[in-house]
Amino acid sequence: MIKEMYLETPFDFSKHSTIGCGGKAKQAYYPQSEEDLCFLLGQLSERPFVLGNMSNVLPMDEDTEKTVLCTKKMTDIRREGDCIFVQAGVTSGRLMRYLQSVGLGGVEFLAGIPCTMGGILFMNGGAGGIYISDWVESVRIYREGKLVELSRAECGYSYKESVFMHTKDVILGARLRLKHSTPQAVKEETRRFLAKRAHLPKGKSMGCVFQNPQGYTAGALIEAAGLKGLRIGGATVSTQHANFIINDQNATARDIRSLIARIKDEVWQRHGVVLEEEIRYL
Ligand SMILES: Cc1cc2nc3c(=O)[nH]c(=O)nc-3n(C[C@H](O)[C@H](O)[C@H](O)COP(=O)(O)OP(=O)(O)OC[C@H]3O[C@@H](n4cnc5c(N)ncnc54)[C@H](O)[C@@H]3O)c2cc1C
Repeated sequence: MIKEMYLETPFDFSKHSTIGCGGKAKQAYYPQSEEDLCFLLGQLSERPFVLGNMSNVLPMDEDTEKTVLCTKKMTDIRREGDCIFVQAGVTSGRLMRYLQSVGLGGVEFLAGIPCTMGGILFMNGGAGGIYISDWVESVRIYREGKLVELSRAECGYSYKESVFMHTKDVILGARLRLKHSTPQAVKEETRRFLAKRAHLPKGKSMGCVFQNPQGYTAGALIEAAGLKGLRIGGATVSTQHANFIINDQNATARDIRSLIARIKDEVWQRHGVVLEEEIRYL
């Protein structure tokens, strides 16, 4: 029997994902503690979809019997010596507020990224050439029934890459080694990063769809191929930033997949460069 914890039945991917499409999963659990999460993982017969804010995933249109485990209620942050420990469900907004209150800095580049810590640690997300891996001391995971602490080296981090993409590990949280700063300086740095994001497209998206191939930026390649504004069904290539696909007319996941395939094909034909997705397919 699964312990009582916040449960959503069904879980509608179109309501929870930032791209705003997809069918429904049978149920979603929202553990509030590491203990709850581990208990749940021990009870389920197959690994659930483990999700944070769903800002970098493309769901499927079809409904699924699978369970979702959403970390968004695991929001503890605590001081551990020179480091802080952040639970997987901590959002960038919550982290910025905490850092401003204690005067610790370094990860202000996360400001405005609609992520949870679990998602950003999985993706090795970043902005302005700074990545979360630059600040990770260790990552705490659930692996095959055990709690394991991985050092940064063991996380296999490189550009938009981590060991977690190749394992079934569930990220519980991480220790970040930050810089001593002041509340005012953290506030200003946070504002500076937020201001830099003002040009990003609004609307339902997954952020950048493709990774930057070595020596290129994906957005510039897509724009040079004349694909800004290209539409399939309810999805369109942003006219503001060509690496964003916007769901502006009730797009299906199928529309978005077709648009992604078309962009990859056109960029290959035009530039001879293979684009690879940054987003994750569920
Ligand atoms: C408007 C917009 C702007 C964005 N800007 C940026 C940016 O500047 N830089 C950037 O790097 N990204 C950006 N993104 C993409 C996205 O926000 C990041 O990739 C983010 O890290 C995803 O976090 P999430 O909590 O939403 O993860 P989700 O989308 O929920 O999950 C992403 C992947 O991580 C896995 N995952 C999540 N939590 C866990 C966990 N606890 N354990 C194991 N696996 C887990 C999921 O299974 C999935 O495969 C942007 C997205 C949007 C919509």
